[in-house]
Amino acid sequence: VKQNGGNGYHFFSKELEARSKQRLSLEMDLRQAIEHQEFALHYQPKVWTATQQIMGMEALLRWQHPKKGMISPAEFIPLAEELGLLPSIGRWVIIEGCRQLARWQQQGLPPLKLSINVSPQQLKDKSIITLLGKAIEKFSLSPSQLVIEITESLAMEDSTANVELLHAIKALGVDLSIDDFGTGYSSLSYLKHLPFDELKIDRSFLINIPNDRDEVAIVKAIIAMAQSLDLRVVAEGVEEAPQLEFLNKLQCEVIQGFYFSKPLPSKAFAEFVLSHKQ
Ligand code: C2E
Ligand code: CA
Ligand code: CA
Ligand code: CA
Repeated sequence: VKQNGGNGYHFFSKELEARSKQRLSLEMDLRQAIEHQEFALHYQPKVWTATQQIMGMEALLRWQHPKKGMISPAEFIPLAEELGLLPSIGRWVIIEGCRQLARWQQQGLPPLKLSINVSPQQLKDKSIITLLGKAIEKFSLSPSQLVIEITESLAMEDSTANVELLHAIKALGVDLSIDDFGTGYSSLSYLKHLPFDELKIDRSFLINIPNDRDEVAIVKAIIAMAQSLDLRVVAEGVEEAPQLEFLNKLQCEVIQGFYFSKPLPSKAFAEFVLSHKQ
């Protein structure tokens, strides 16, 4: 305990108390956020590097808190996970994403692939397979229009339950993507038995390309490996033209990042697609 004499301790405990109160109120707010319709999905384009045509978009969750404003998923997803709220939030994301994709199709947008993030914890619940199947049917989507992004983590290594679940998702006809590749401290052996279609190179490996020799070596190796495993390679977090040029030279197939666009609300995303040269 920090104690700098006199009423220092007192002050500190008050601060702690305030912080835990704040967290408690955030918890209560999060429990009601779905009901109160405070969640929204924003969409970030994924672009074919060579032609700069739009391949699809990633749905990214946003929480519009009535008093605190926009709260980042990096902040509330871990809390939701801890509170056991992620499964129901995750179900909302799948349904809302599919509904939006169907709406865009009705509006005449070209057929794009929608990527949905699913945390390893959500994969413990087999009902996700039924939900995906139902959403595809309800919104008359083609399963190949959906991509499920799963963060690379120890959780996806060889446990039989995981292997079966991923094969079951794959059997629906949706694509599976490894998110944040290179950050999960897992061995590469899972790449052999798991039915992935796509690999996303984490932004942390791309920040200093093409100038940093080590980063360049790592990115080259990842791309070569992904290509020989027939995985579509996506570079995430691309912000600058030199990064794009370099990734294009290495034949990295897809680029995602602020260079093209930040994640956008659905209406702005549709406008982006319609104004983008195709
Ligand atoms: P992620 O899946 O790796 O998503 C990419 C993150 O990088 C997004 O942050 C996106 O806004 C950001 N980003 C994209 N391009 C750039 C760029 O050029 N520069 C920089 N600096 N950042 C870029 P966001 O939206 O804050 O999401 C953070 C994380 O929260 C996501 O990382 C994902 O792990 C998680 N997340 C978001 N939505 C969902 C969801 O619906 N379900 C689950 N389970 N997790 C989600
Ligand atoms: Ca992702
Ligand atoms: Ca990622
Ligand atoms: Ca990331």
